[in-house]
Amino acid sequence: MHLAGAIYAETFIRNAAEDALCYSPAIRSFFKPSATTRSIPPQPVCGEGNRRAEDAFKDQKLYDAMVDDFSMRSFIPSASISGHDQFFATFSRYGALNRSHHGEWLDEVATRAAAQNEQYLEVMETPDFAAAAKLGYSIPWPDTVANSLATDTGDTSRPSKVALAKLRDQLLADGLRDIVSANRQEFSDALDLRNRIEHCNTSTAAPGCSVTVRFLYQILRGFPPQQVFAQTLLGFEVVQAELNSGHPNVVGINFVMPEDGHLSMSEYHRQMVMLDYLHSVYPKVHISLHAGELAPSLVPPDGLRFHIREAVELGHAERIGHGVDVMYETRPNELLKELAVHHIMTEINLTSNDVILGVTKDWHPLPVYRAAGVPVALSTDDEGVSRIDITHEYTRAVLDFSLSYLDLKRMARTSIEHSFLSGPSLWAQSDNFTIVNVACKADRLGSANPSQACHAFLQSSERAQEQWQLEHRYQVFESSLP
Ligand SMILES: [Zn+2]
Repeated sequence: MHLAGAIYAETFIRNAAEDALCYSPAIRSFFKPSATTRSIPPQPVCGEGNRRAEDAFKDQKLYDAMVDDFSMRSFIPSASISGHDQFFATFSRYGALNRSHHGEWLDEVATRAAAQNEQYLEVMETPDFAAAAKLGYSIPWPDTVANSLATDTGDTSRPSKVALAKLRDQLLADGLRDIVSANRQEFSDALDLRNRIEHCNTSTAAPGCSVTVRFLYQILRGFPPQQVFAQTLLGFEVVQAELNSGHPNVVGINFVMPEDGHLSMSEYHRQMVMLDYLHSVYPKVHISLHAGELAPSLVPPDGLRFHIREAVELGHAERIGHGVDVMYETRPNELLKELAVHHIMTEINLTSNDVILGVTKDWHPLPVYRAAGVPVALSTDDEGVSRIDITHEYTRAVLDFSLSYLDLKRMARTSIEHSFLSGPSLWAQSDNFTIVNVACKADRLGSANPSQACHAFLQSSERAQEQWQLEHRYQVFESSLP
């Protein structure tokens, strides 16, 4: 899930009023006022035709328009504006909001998660990257342009590992590491604020506190290679520093922005080459990648043939986001087998795929993945933009694909099995949820009082702890059934 994409429009409107922002009906966006009144407190001066964000609370029509602007609510595709366009347009419309709201946003997603009996979230978030981008553009870059289609045949313009190592050295020498601590602080500040809002670790702790939250460092892929490389290097440095701390808040990286965009497409291969290199330098940093969030007609057929395979083979992705175009890849059955054998999980986002790509159940590869034995789990992607929640996605999976309770149970187990939490799995074999790790073999699954050996094992593994908790919840739920 993406942090900003998970927030409902109503929250953005409240935040914009707190930040004393203005709203432009013409571009359907918040913006920072260039002047304020001399009154106490000062009010934003928004200019002809614009409104104060707080006006929305006195003008239901304006409020409704804003909710529609920041989400898919009421959206009907029209000439030249597709669901894809509306979806991705929402993100820049509230871009003027202050970063200080991220703690409230975490509270919102954790509270909603707790209400649905969710226990663990990996939240994608982009910390400030302006300084890293500036550094990236300040150093000389090999000026060849990668060809998006010349992949299977070998792209001669790809930068070598030696060239990338040189670029890394230069970025580090020029001060890229100085940004690392500020980025880490952003994540920990947001978590601290969430903990304060929810009174976590006190006797009045809110239900949201029960949700374990970790972050994925989100990198913007739709920019020139100088910027993408600098931001990606910064992401790896941040996660490595978090891992070194022993208590990481940030556990991996992910690439975002429309995969069908010009630079995402034309630079895709080169970006995977960057990841191949950076993975060799920081092998412990987990990688999940949006790959194959594409469909026929959105891009030319040749653009559908290699993203998932390269994300795994070059990008070292342990999980794939979406993977919608898998059957259009070169040798799709071999690819599916590869994903199954190497236990690469696909994150399935049914509503997102419908509203962005127009891919509905008959066209969706979920049954193909399941039949091929590829691990799959349901996720929301952007629950605020789509105005859904994870329960909606479970329901949709049942209605669209006739999944059973046991299918859903397996998918929830799969999601924690493939989380980026540290430590060995509760299960003896990857994705086989029948044989328990030897330490807990004699215990009743999810028991509130595990044996000494099992307890010691659970203490040693964050991942197994969450898995045990999930089994505990299954016990409670299943014993409550009539
Ligand atoms: Zn996404």
